[in-house]
Amino acid sequence: MNEIINLSNPIVEAQPLFGASLQELTGLMENLGQPPYRARQLYEALYAQRTPSLDQITTLPATLRTTLSSAGYTVGLPELLQTARSIDGTERYLVRMADGETVETVWMPGGDGGERGDGTQAAEEEEHPTHDDDDYKRATICISSQVGCAVNCQFCLTAKLGIRRNLTPGEIAGQVAAVLNRHKVEVGRDRINLVFMGMGEPFLNYAAFMDAVRLLTGPMSIPESRMTVSTSGILPGIQQFASETIRPKLAVSLNASNDVVRESIMPITRKWNIAALLEAISAVPLRPRERVTFEYVLLGGINDQRQHADELIALLKNLRAKSQAKINLIVWNSGPDMPFHEPTPQDVGIFQKRLRDGGIPAFIRKPRGRDIYAACGQLKRTLESPPPTPLVEIAL
Ligand code: SAH
Ligand code: SF4
Repeated sequence: MNEIINLSNPIVEAQPLFGASLQELTGLMENLGQPPYRARQLYEALYAQRTPSLDQITTLPATLRTTLSSAGYTVGLPELLQTARSIDGTERYLVRMADGETVETVWMPGGDGGERGDGTQAAEEEEHPTHDDDDYKRATICISSQVGCAVNCQFCLTAKLGIRRNLTPGEIAGQVAAVLNRHKVEVGRDRINLVFMGMGEPFLNYAAFMDAVRLLTGPMSIPESRMTVSTSGILPGIQQFASETIRPKLAVSLNASNDVVRESIMPITRKWNIAALLEAISAVPLRPRERVTFEYVLLGGINDQRQHADELIALLKNLRAKSQAKINLIVWNSGPDMPFHEPTPQDVGIFQKRLRDGGIPAFIRKPRGRDIYAACGQLKRTLESPPPTPLVEIAL
């Protein structure tokens, strides 16, 4: 989008407009000798109306649309290539970007187990349990931020892909637009939560992730209070996040109650240990009634014992005292060739009760779309594709 168009160039590369800021569109219109209000019209069409193709943007004159497309511009929304539908209504999409790379995005419709954009599942009451309008939709969309992931958590299927590349702001917000279009969602009437919990580590693609958030909260009108970002604990990202004025809620994948266990399942602990992580989290200024969610994937025999619950209670003591923490327990979703096993339902219940007795709000996240591999950690490409790049060390 930064390039000045060259109308005389016969070989034009497709240039997606979706993802451009108002400023960038204004620059583009200026180059074309158009008044600034044309940029505003294009901006509205892209993000508020989510118009999927240039020729459907009828607020722009036909000649201008032709000029744009002959210069190679397209709306460029990611394409929903393949859909898998779960018996629980969850839909998983294989989403193709302009260069052919694919990620996965998940639509979780209806009651989302009490989710309020924060990934909680809960005994917490829904604010509007009923709605008069039959067409009214409620759903959570789970978005990817990278093609693959570099963090290498041992229990996660996405990790096995390695990292292929970062997604752009347009590709991140575009997943939302494509899925909203598929379900004919009217933002404002319908209630949509977003969770940045798909493929990738959002805080290792920080600038693009935050640019996407600005598009989603701005012209796409999805409130920041309905968004949650989950990080494996990238410290510089958390520190930067703390200074954002508009930001999603924060969830952190803790997954262990001490550094030894965490390091064995999340090697990133060697870079930033639990104490450093908690310190950085404590520095994030919370809004009224906001709490940080700690995600905790329960791995049978590894982190699901009584001693671990007790360590967790002690760890979160300070945050707990200020009512700033809650825990989402996630039963591990199995994958092939992984040296873990699911905890027993009995152990899960005991673990939750022990945390609650210790004063920590703890919820068990309801697995969604397990039968189609759409549940947590199961987002892994399933179509034929070039072999994944080897796992890479995280360079920061
Ligand atoms: N990269 C980010 C966000 C995506 S992962 C992060 O790690 O936080 C979203 C959540 O799924 C994380 O809490 C992660 O710990 C969890 N997860 C990963 N693999 C899982 C699996 N196989 N079963 C259950 N949860 C898993
Ligand atoms: Fe990456 Fe999150 Fe999976 Fe870890 S759990 S490998 S950070 S996607």
